[in-house]
Order: sequence, then C-alpha cells, then structure tokens
Amino acid sequence: MQKKDPKDPQQIKQDFEVLQSRQFIAIAAALFFVLLCGVVYKRPDLFGEFSKNSLWGVQALIIAAFIGFTAMNWRCPSCGKYLGNDIVRRVCRRCGCGLR
Ligand SMILES: [Zn+2]
Repeated sequence: MQKKDPKDPQQIKQDFEVLQSRQFIAIAAALFFVLLCGVVYKRPDLFGEFSKNSLWGVQALIIAAFIGFTAMNWRCPSCGKYLGNDIVRRVCRRCGCGLR
C-alpha cells in the first residue's frame, strides 16, 4: 500500500487545484440549474408546465446537493478540514499549508 501522509507541498497544491476546479464547476452547475428552474417557470411554452411547488422542490434539491458536494469536496488536501466560504483561499486555517 502506498503511504499517503505526509504529502509534499507540491502535491497539496496540485490536489487543491483539482478540488477548486471541481468546486467552480459545481457552483456553475448549481447556478445553471437554479436559473433553468426560473426559466422553466417563466416559459411554460418551452418545457411544458410545472407547478411552482415542484420547481421549488427541484431548486431545494439542487441547493442541498450543492451543499453536500461542497462539504465533501471543499476540504484541505493536507488535513481534511473544511475550507470555509473563501473560494480563493491561499492557506489552510487549520494546518497552515499553502494551497497555491
Ligand atoms: Zn489543512
């Protein structure tokens, strides 16, 4: 078995880049689908008619999925601590490792 810890700083930066890209994609996707729900509601001629409640449900699901994904993904590659709301974070608050 490959020993993973401690990671070297270069590896941490690489891992962080990957998870940050994933995070940006997740934000874009969540925004897209939430906006899409708005469009679907406003333009029943495009996708057929949906009740406001079912669209609210879908939006709530999207947001819940996004929060769940963020909680799993948005963590320090070194210590695994949640990185908080700062998408452009440079150092981990807990272990102090450089992320970029
Ligand atoms: Zn850390």
